[in-house]
Amino acid sequence: MVGRALLSVAIVGGGPGGLGTAIALSKLPFLQVTLYEKNPEPREADLLGASDGVKGGSKSNTHQRNAYTGNILSITQHPENSDADTRGAIRARRTRLQSALLDKVPEGLIQFNKKLVSLEDLPGAGVRLIFDDQTDAHADLVVGADGIHSVVRRVLLPDHQLRFTGNTAFRTIVPRSRLAHLPDITSTTAWWWGEAGHVYFSDVDDEKEVDDPYFEITVRSYKEPDIPGKTVVWGIPATKEKVASRVSTFDQRVRDAVDAVHEGEWGEFATFAGPRLSKITGWDKIALIGDASHPLSGAFGSGATFAMEDGWILARALEHSKFASHPVEEALEVFNVIRSPYYARMYEHLDEVGAKMQQFKAENNDFDAFLKAKIDSFLYGDKSFIYKNDIGKVWEEYVASLPSSN
Ligand SMILES: Cc1cc2nc3c(=O)[nH]c(=O)nc-3n(C[C@H](O)[C@H](O)[C@H](O)COP(=O)(O)OP(=O)(O)OC[C@H]3O[C@@H](n4cnc5c(N)ncnc54)[C@H](O)[C@@H]3O)c2cc1C
Repeated sequence: MVGRALLSVAIVGGGPGGLGTAIALSKLPFLQVTLYEKNPEPREADLLGASDGVKGGSKSNTHQRNAYTGNILSITQHPENSDADTRGAIRARRTRLQSALLDKVPEGLIQFNKKLVSLEDLPGAGVRLIFDDQTDAHADLVVGADGIHSVVRRVLLPDHQLRFTGNTAFRTIVPRSRLAHLPDITSTTAWWWGEAGHVYFSDVDDEKEVDDPYFEITVRSYKEPDIPGKTVVWGIPATKEKVASRVSTFDQRVRDAVDAVHEGEWGEFATFAGPRLSKITGWDKIALIGDASHPLSGAFGSGATFAMEDGWILARALEHSKFASHPVEEALEVFNVIRSPYYARMYEHLDEVGAKMQQFKAENNDFDAFLKAKIDSFLYGDKSFIYKNDIGKVWEEYVASLPSSN
């Protein structure tokens, strides 16, 4: 870009993907980056209301249990105890991650209260962004980081439809002390698996840093009735009675833990998903990243990581293409070539696991055996392409594969 005007980049959405992308792109001196976020402030609703630099919870083992009998089906040691991977598994509140990312975004780069409603393709002149406050903006490159219900994706691909998966999460965090009297609830991270749902228990605070750390309870229900009008149900309050009804046949310990949550403390999150996109770029000037690019509703519990990886690769692609005659077009091509197959692999993996489990269920009546098979395929099948993905190495390998590098 030597001797040329700066390229303007508009990032839509200030979740982990948008913030991660803003950090990566703002380090490139030939870009002028602006992030537009619809919310009036830089965080999603924190169930606790605090976000003061606490790290996260990292129990050294995880229990998998039968939700009705409490029978322990497996115990996993987390990587922090192994020589192979010293990073460890940490559960932290999303607001902590948001705050940490926000700290690294250059001041003045984010505009709040900017809800994108549409985009216009301006041939030869970039993209016009149209906001709900009747204002607009222009950019050479638009990054759609606006989550699973992405407006950017809807404009690019109007026929792409999301559907309610039937799977709803009821989530809360409560002071751990409130559950301390219940046997086997707070001592480990644990999943209690049932037929039509499961319950997940986990620390979310680093107990060395907080006097009374918070503890997450998520009740997942797999067979919720369809949502009329397919409206987004995300973080709305759920009653105690509603959540209790989803675990009424579960082990007493689980029911007692769910009962210890006060009225008004549960949030309900309905998960939506949609088919894979064959391409995660459009108009030669738009990139979709994070949940906007692979609407899977948190299927791997790592969506924030995928979104940040997207942003980092996009930055490398832009840097790599900066002297090209059409730098944005070329960078998007590189970005798509690297990230699309990665998401394709995820979709394939989910299809394979789903088919395998259906077959296992048809052939086996024993519930514990079924659960063990499910846990094996969901938690211990080969997911190294996800959990050990070294994005720096991916980039090096891509560069090495180019004809000019040989
Ligand atoms: C129940 C559940 C549990 C999960 N658990 C985990 C987990 O443990 N670990 C993990 O890594 N991931 C988890 N995920 C997935 C994770 O939350 C997402 O993958 C991740 O947040 C994706 O980041 P993103 O930046 O792409 O999108 P989002 O986080 O959805 O951010 C999108 C941003 O865009 C803004 N926005 C939306 N529309 C507009 C608009 N029109 N104009 C301007 N701004 C807009 C939003 O306000 C928001 O700030 C979970 C998901 C679900 C559903």
